[in-house]
Amino acid sequence: MDLGLHARTALVCAASAGLGRASAQALAQAGVAVTITGRNEEKLAIAAKEIAAATGAKISYAAGDITTPEGRAAALSVCPSPDILVNNAGGPPAGDFRDFSEQDWQEALNGNLLTPIALIKAVIDPMIERKWGRIVNITSGSVKAPIPHLGLSNTARTGLTGFIAGLSRQVAQHNVIINNLLPGAFDTDRLQKLAKVEAEKSGKSLEEVVRARAAGLPTRRVGQPEEFGAMCAFLCSQYAGYIVGQNILMDGGNINSTL
Ligand code: NAP
Repeated sequence: MDLGLHARTALVCAASAGLGRASAQALAQAGVAVTITGRNEEKLAIAAKEIAAATGAKISYAAGDITTPEGRAAALSVCPSPDILVNNAGGPPAGDFRDFSEQDWQEALNGNLLTPIALIKAVIDPMIERKWGRIVNITSGSVKAPIPHLGLSNTARTGLTGFIAGLSRQVAQHNVIINNLLPGAFDTDRLQKLAKVEAEKSGKSLEEVVRARAAGLPTRRVGQPEEFGAMCAFLCSQYAGYIVGQNILMDGGNINSTL
């Protein structure tokens, strides 16, 4: 399927690994010139090289923490006016809300609410002028079914969801299309790290924890990043112009709901 994205440009944040990287690769496969970001420059440069080799697309990179003004400035200096923006960053830590400090809350709100808003603000007006833009925010299934002990994430991400619900409907008339993509359990480094913590706590092996996680899902498996990347690229495609302000859940059917 030709997604109609040849010669488009994209800024994909937090994309040297995991869901961001898979999204960057799927866009590159569709003919998009992609800029990826990440904090570890060495890892980022390798990812850029690998994606370019796999797809033949032009891949640039900008190292930096996307949750800081400097990191965002670095990203925007390499890719100042993208046709496509994929907002992504690491998730906040888990824990009991009684233990979170004021700074924990500020960091979660900064990383998962204010950072995507700042990037949208930086790129949206040229998209409106060009009458073409696509923005996908990687959030979490937790915005539909909040996860106990992920209070920081639940709060920051539902805040972004509310903001996007309003903004997406303001700009759709200009063919600037904004949606959120909500992962459930996907096989990334983050999932492995969380499983490792659980294994240490419970005394089970890592394999047991990962297997139990998969067994609890209707699909009996966790998602693969390539599946996520393909959906992200579709939401950026010429065919996504009538999908506005939606929260697309990819969780193997984990959340049982008719909505
Ligand atoms: P991941 O495998 O841990 O990948 C994280 C990527 O983001 C790496 O490239 C990392 O590179 C980069 N990164 C992290 N923080 C960054 C920052 N502040 N600035 C720039 N780059 C940053 O994570 P993932 O599983 O793909 O998850 C992506 C998002 O989806 C996260 O917000 C996560 O909470 C959410 N999510 C994931 C799942 C899942 O099952 N995987 C489920 C629900 C929600 P550097 O470390 O070099 O910066």
